Amino acid sequence: MADPLAWIPEQLELLESLERRRSIHIRATQQGPSVDWKERELLNFSSNDYLNLAADPRLEAAACEAIQREGWGSGASPLITGRGQNQASLEVALAQFEATEAALTFASGFAANAGVIDALADRGDVILSDEKNHASIIDGTRLSKATVRVYPHRDLQYLENLLKQCSTFRRRLIVTDTLFSMDGDIAPLPELADLAEAYDAMLMVDEAHATGVFGENGRGLCEQFDVEDRVSIRVGTFSKALGGHGGFVVGSEPLIHWLVNRCRPYIFSTAPPAANAGAMLAALKIVHDEPQRRTDLLAKAKWLRGKLREIGWSLGDSESQIIPVIVGTENLAMTLSAQLHEMGMMVPGIRPPSVPDGECLLRISLSCGHTQQHLDTLVEALTELRLG
Ligand SMILES: *Cc1c(COP(=O)(O)O)cnc(C)c1O
Repeated sequence: MADPLAWIPEQLELLESLERRRSIHIRATQQGPSVDWKERELLNFSSNDYLNLAADPRLEAAACEAIQREGWGSGASPLITGRGQNQASLEVALAQFEATEAALTFASGFAANAGVIDALADRGDVILSDEKNHASIIDGTRLSKATVRVYPHRDLQYLENLLKQCSTFRRRLIVTDTLFSMDGDIAPLPELADLAEAYDAMLMVDEAHATGVFGENGRGLCEQFDVEDRVSIRVGTFSKALGGHGGFVVGSEPLIHWLVNRCRPYIFSTAPPAANAGAMLAALKIVHDEPQRRTDLLAKAKWLRGKLREIGWSLGDSESQIIPVIVGTENLAMTLSAQLHEMGMMVPGIRPPSVPDGECLLRISLSCGHTQQHLDTLVEALTELRLG
């Protein structure tokens, strides 16, 4: 009998011939801004560990303590018996940190986005989604039975025209990343809130890259723009600046109760381990107690953006710790990434399907653990590569 999976190696070969076959590697250790990679220590400009918390001993200690009290696995979904003391405490602390009525934690940010959109919009509703939204938002729109309209990146005029045509739908849901994960640019949140109010739409935002980084208290860009009261659904993740794992949603009590009853990845997925909840309680405390981490990070990012633009690299509209060096072709992005690797720096080249064809880039992500010397090293390398 013919192998029913024979098509897969053929398709993999096709990817190989296009030089688009990707594989995963093992890194040894990751300590702050450096990473051991195939027996070489590289400066790490590729991680989303923006506040340098992933290897913080305080998170480790909190995780160990949680394991000692609750064990490792949670054994069931939260609605059955999986919700332990650490997870419950984390949801309370998170709502407090985010200044919302309630919070709900998920196994991942991906699951949160995909599940929440599906739970909020059904047949007869319409979802309006920015074209550069994260894959998990896109998958949420695909899971939902609602009609989906994608608007060009941050194009308010286009969105308003769409909204005008959407008045006959039962409900409208506008959904956007606040800080876009590849371009490092920012959604026009006050204007989006204006449109949501004018056209009677729900507004959902994904703060994945902004939590812990932006806003006076580190709550993200809704806080920075002072629109928290106007954004009814906020998704975030523990897996980036907070240095851990898992996603969350914050908002009103009724929203959270609805999700507990209707959000499938919440209902049908085993609760995250207590150790993660314990560590994330510690991370929230650090974000509160050590605001210098975020101010320092943003100051370094601003300095680096200035330098790189000065040398003549195109950084698009980046205004954050995510700094894309937009080079265009896949070949150039991958070559530059390899050259930087040779020079001792890990800066990933980003290519389709993560970005559209012809918009390939080097994605620099900064951490508050990078020193001025680390930044100087990167600037020197990118100066040399620019001239070369
Ligand atoms: C990383 C990311 C997610 C997914 O979060 P995980 O917790 O890693 O699953 C969601 N949205 C955006 C914008 C992201 O960048």
